[in-house]
Amino acid sequence: MEIKDEILAALKKLGDPVAVADPGPERWSSWIHEVEAYSRSFLDLTRNGPAWWPPEEGQVGPSFHLEEDPVPLPAILEECRSRIDFRGLNPASGGHLGYIPGGGMPAAALGDMLAAVTNRYAGIHFANPGAVELEHFLVRWVADLFGLPSSAGGTLTSGGSIASLVAITAARDASGELPARWMDMVVYGTAHQHHCLDKALRIAGLGYSIRRDVPMDEGFRMRPDMLDAMIQEDMARGLHPFLLLASAGTTDTGAVDPLDALADIAHANGMWFHVDAAYGGFFRLLPEFAPAFAGLERADSIVADPHKGLFLPYGTGAVVVREIKHLLDSHAYEAAYMQDAYRDQETLSPADLSPELTRHFRGLRMYFSMKMNGLSVIRHLLKQKILLARWFYHTIREAGFETLMEPALSVVVFRWPARDEEVDQWNARLVDMIREDGRVFLSSTRIGGRVWIRLAVLSFRTTLEHLETTVEVLIRQRDHALSTHGFAI
Ligand SMILES: *Cc1c(COP(=O)(O)O)cnc(C)c1O
Repeated sequence: MEIKDEILAALKKLGDPVAVADPGPERWSSWIHEVEAYSRSFLDLTRNGPAWWPPEEGQVGPSFHLEEDPVPLPAILEECRSRIDFRGLNPASGGHLGYIPGGGMPAAALGDMLAAVTNRYAGIHFANPGAVELEHFLVRWVADLFGLPSSAGGTLTSGGSIASLVAITAARDASGELPARWMDMVVYGTAHQHHCLDKALRIAGLGYSIRRDVPMDEGFRMRPDMLDAMIQEDMARGLHPFLLLASAGTTDTGAVDPLDALADIAHANGMWFHVDAAYGGFFRLLPEFAPAFAGLERADSIVADPHKGLFLPYGTGAVVVREIKHLLDSHAYEAAYMQDAYRDQETLSPADLSPELTRHFRGLRMYFSMKMNGLSVIRHLLKQKILLARWFYHTIREAGFETLMEPALSVVVFRWPARDEEVDQWNARLVDMIREDGRVFLSSTRIGGRVWIRLAVLSFRTTLEHLETTVEVLIRQRDHALSTHGFAI
């Protein structure tokens, strides 16, 4: 008994840490109240404040540290204010027009908070059937949107990169090739395909496989005739063309590849047809894009990013595969300590469809956001982004800027047509000047080795006002540069 008394005495010495960690109704209410007030003031500043805070000259304050004793919530919120939320880019701002903007719909934050409070286990059906069924429902909705058959399935991931890794791994295993042959396997994409696909290939062990960049047409779409010729040549050399990576909306220009023609070629040659729709996929919610996306329904795998086109907060990607069997072949495992969980095999478990076992219950934020907004609002937001990009395209051309192509989706690529030897420097400087103003944020890229400015409309908060501000800033900075010769023209 002595040993048990010692244990009990030691337990007593610990006090009641549970009562601190589990706040009880009053403390919980006051926590929520404080976080609510903080988030409200953040949103006020986001609606009316800059999209970019330039790097501070001086010190921001003491660096992060941890203490033995509890720190009151207001002090932690003050750290968020001074050290985190008002520095660098504000991705929640409608003035965020760089890269591919994400979302951050507040309705989704409610789902996230509840997912954290209830701590539903969304990895295994047996544990939390409702959570898993909701995620399957949402994935099925995505598969239906893209026109995939009933054999399709998939999973919600942290983003497009992990979703791509899941798809590439499934494609690799479906090829049936053993590692000894991987160096003879050929992957076809374009120079504008997202770098996460090359990263996924490398992680999946296909870094030494052969990667071919298929030439693009004047709209930066993959050329099917060139693809076909390259495949025939590779086959004649005894290589194994196995994977075609197409884009439904590239990051650089928003171009959508001719998916139907590419599907013909991929399937005629026994290849896996993957479509990266991380940026563009949810524009399929607009009927007018059905023709541009024709052939998407023939894909073997598709990646889409709800944290882009469905305006969710960062941390939600999706992968759907034409035959769910391929995801299971690559990702399903069993372990002795999981045996209870596998008695119920009626419904698939997300843990068998991706590298993750324990994972965030992402479905709840997606469901809250889609339910609380309604699909029609999401469609109207998407349509608004398309119209805003077109408005900007015409306005900027009227102002004498040069554009690369008509926007295929909501990305506009443009530059000031300075003299050839100075055009790169001119436009890079223009992007810097826009950042110095801070009200809107744009990014640049290199196309054909030259600097181009990109404007990508996908933040749900972006309105005509943000684009009017952008035009005003661009023209003012251009005129300033022209008149002062602050930089070469
Ligand atoms: C954003 C993006 C990705 C990568 O997705 P993450 O969610 O950032 O990991 C892949 N492809 C395209 C076209 C993208 O726009």
